[in-house]
Amino acid sequence: MERLLLAVPCYNEADNVEELYQRVVTDIDFAGLGLAHEVLFINDGSTDQTGEIIKALAHKHEDVSYISLSRNYGKETAMVAAFDYFHHDAMIMMDADLQHPPVLVNDMIKLWRLGYEDVYAKRNKREGESWFKIKTSQWFYRLLGAISRTPVTPDAGDFRLLDKKVVVALRALRESQRYTKGLYNVVGFRKVAIDFDAAPRLHGKSKWSLFNLINLASEGVTSYTTAPLRLSTFLGFIVSGFAFLYMIYLFVKTIIVGPTQSGFPTIVILILFLGGCILISNGILGEYLARVFMESKNRPLYFVEEKKTNDEQRDSSR
Ligand code: UDP
Ligand code: MG
Repeated sequence: MERLLLAVPCYNEADNVEELYQRVVTDIDFAGLGLAHEVLFINDGSTDQTGEIIKALAHKHEDVSYISLSRNYGKETAMVAAFDYFHHDAMIMMDADLQHPPVLVNDMIKLWRLGYEDVYAKRNKREGESWFKIKTSQWFYRLLGAISRTPVTPDAGDFRLLDKKVVVALRALRESQRYTKGLYNVVGFRKVAIDFDAAPRLHGKSKWSLFNLINLASEGVTSYTTAPLRLSTFLGFIVSGFAFLYMIYLFVKTIIVGPTQSGFPTIVILILFLGGCILISNGILGEYLARVFMESKNRPLYFVEEKKTNDEQRDSSR
């Protein structure tokens, strides 16, 4: 029998995890699909009752296991813990807040059986999300798609079915500053989309603040492409080009009309403009250098505080 791992990263989801588990076992027809399953909760350093609740669930139900991380690492890293633990035939990643309807898993499995290795759920409409969030994310994906060679699929989140091959590939990517949505495209494999209407969050608030989103976006750009570095080079060329043309103009003008005293505002503007360009370029360079610095430490991505899993001998703390 093929085995399926349902991985659920949770950060302060005390009100949602029980309901999620109920929906998983009622909405997904494991018997009909001929699948053995395991539900893995990754407790990403929750500060509420989430830890105790998933522990109780794991004691009560045989098909539930959990890994508690030593602190809050963020969803991207919590997902790595799931990739590391994985020893099944396929994996489904889903959010704990029931924004990802479990019933869709049935269709995902069917597509997987047809030979697709990465079945991703694509959001049609987004309920309970502000116009601002929807628009900014649209622009972001358009920008990222324009500047990188492996485009990121817009509206495709982490709700996906991944074949063993894909998980093994993703597991091999150990970068500490992760942009998983991009990594799915970096590793490749046969992909297919499946449309769904994202439900509003069941309980609680989204963990993403505007600041978080800006951070994730800049992480997305800098960990995924080196285009900004090229942009600053272009900017340098353009500014120098203008400066050169201006120099010729002044030279010719001086020969024809003779030297003039004016031009002070021009100099101030040029100094400020160039100073700005240099600072921007330095900043971009610094972003990448910081990335090299962080990655060069080569630290383990996370530490496990406690776990109850069906494969205790696996060392998932690497
Ligand atoms: N999450 C996590 N660690 C974090 C933040 C979020 O594991 O630091 C989990 C969260 O519990 C949820 C999923 O990631 O299951 C998506 O989070 P959220 O619903 O806040 O994001 P949104 O749906 O607004 O993108
Ligand atoms: Mg959510």
